[in-house]
Amino acid sequence: MARIVIAGGGFAGIEAGRVIARGLQLRGLKDKHSITIIDKHPYHAFTPALIPASTTPMTVSDEAVREAVCIPLSDIHFSIPVAIVTDEIVQLNVAWNSVVGKKKHYEYDYLIIAVGQEPTFYHLQGVQTHSLPLATIEHALAIRSEIARQIQIHDTGQARIVVVGGGPTGVEFAGLLRSRARSFIRSIGGRCELEVSLVDSGDCILKMTRPSVQNRVTRILKQMGVSMIQNAMISHMTDQSIEFENRGHMPFDMVVWGAGRATPAVANIELFTHGRAGAIATNESGVPKIPNVEHIGRPVYAVGDISYISDNVAWVAPNAITGGRHAGEHILTHIDYAERLPNDFVPRPFKAQNNSIFLLGTHTGVVTVPIFIPARFGVLIRRLVDLRYFLGIMLPHKAWKQWRKMKVLYR
Ligand SMILES: Cc1cc2nc3c(=O)[nH]c(=O)nc-3n(C[C@H](O)[C@H](O)[C@H](O)COP(=O)(O)OP(=O)(O)OC[C@H]3O[C@@H](n4cnc5c(N)ncnc54)[C@H](O)[C@@H]3O)c2cc1C
Repeated sequence: MARIVIAGGGFAGIEAGRVIARGLQLRGLKDKHSITIIDKHPYHAFTPALIPASTTPMTVSDEAVREAVCIPLSDIHFSIPVAIVTDEIVQLNVAWNSVVGKKKHYEYDYLIIAVGQEPTFYHLQGVQTHSLPLATIEHALAIRSEIARQIQIHDTGQARIVVVGGGPTGVEFAGLLRSRARSFIRSIGGRCELEVSLVDSGDCILKMTRPSVQNRVTRILKQMGVSMIQNAMISHMTDQSIEFENRGHMPFDMVVWGAGRATPAVANIELFTHGRAGAIATNESGVPKIPNVEHIGRPVYAVGDISYISDNVAWVAPNAITGGRHAGEHILTHIDYAERLPNDFVPRPFKAQNNSIFLLGTHTGVVTVPIFIPARFGVLIRRLVDLRYFLGIMLPHKAWKQWRKMKVLYR
């Protein structure tokens, strides 16, 4: 009997679990092996909804926002029973085939590491204390209530909201906030103005896209009233202002930090080679590049944002799903061949899918291949992509229910 343990129930972990469950069922092996998914939360956070969630007017309750973003892991459909465990992993002991959680240890025969990434503040003084990151539902709710607090404090004045980071998170947040500012302010009976600035250290935003997209998005944001501050290197932050290395300082009332993501400490495993942002360097099946193979016990895979395949594979949900699928298929092949892969076994090449739809506010929807579409179509396309994903991981009635819950985020 093989014990397959998946650390992390995000996009990659769920896909890996579903592929293995289906494979075992098809092979009539469902009673022979066990699959366990361990996550510190009992839900799968649907991250593409976090930015709309953080800018949703206050007429929608926190509870409704939370339910729209968080899919209970118990609602995910697997072909055979999969154990879902809520526990925080504190150590991945790959030399001893064991995952150490706060509640207990989990021994494994196959391990898939899929714990994703977390925000980093690059050890810049004062940044973590004085800014709000945006990577979890707690962050999104904290940002939303801080925007509301600023509106109340400033009464008829102006609240200065600075967004740091010109990547997809910063750009989408700045655009959505600016375009929803009026309805947000109205939702709490406020009267102030929201001044939104987007700060980036480089000379362009959305570095992974073509210059034509960068220029167009910059123009759209400016037209919407977002101030663009580029080539601005932050040195530190005080409780009232951002201090730059090269351009003085900038006072703020609130800072949203979307400038960096890093590998969580638990995945910083010495035996592995680490690539960009400390992610575990892997081949296209999620198998880590391990310099000292003899120190590793049972097979280990790293997939999703925690894995670094090459600079051509962006850390986005579709690539995490592909990574999870590849690792799942690799484990099934391993089981088929009684753990000895044939000499001519060639892992499936990784077909990166780096394009994602992001919304630039209620006026414009943008796809990163340079097609610009009006917002209502942008939202519609995004909602249909979401529905397709939900139908892939849940039974139809549950997928439909979850999809309807998300409606509140786009009002
Ligand atoms: C604000 C935001 C918006 C985004 N928008 C988009 C978008 O529109 N489109 C897109 O394609 N991508 C988007 N992304 C990127 C996308 O979220 C990631 O690429 C994707 O989530 C990676 O999947 P994953 O499975 O590797 O990690 P995750 O989905 O992050 O899952 C990791 C899981 O591991 C769990 N975990 C972590 N540490 C531990 C621990 N110590 N113990 C137990 N469990 C643990 C977490 O709770 C989580 O459930 C966005 C990201 C952010 C932050």
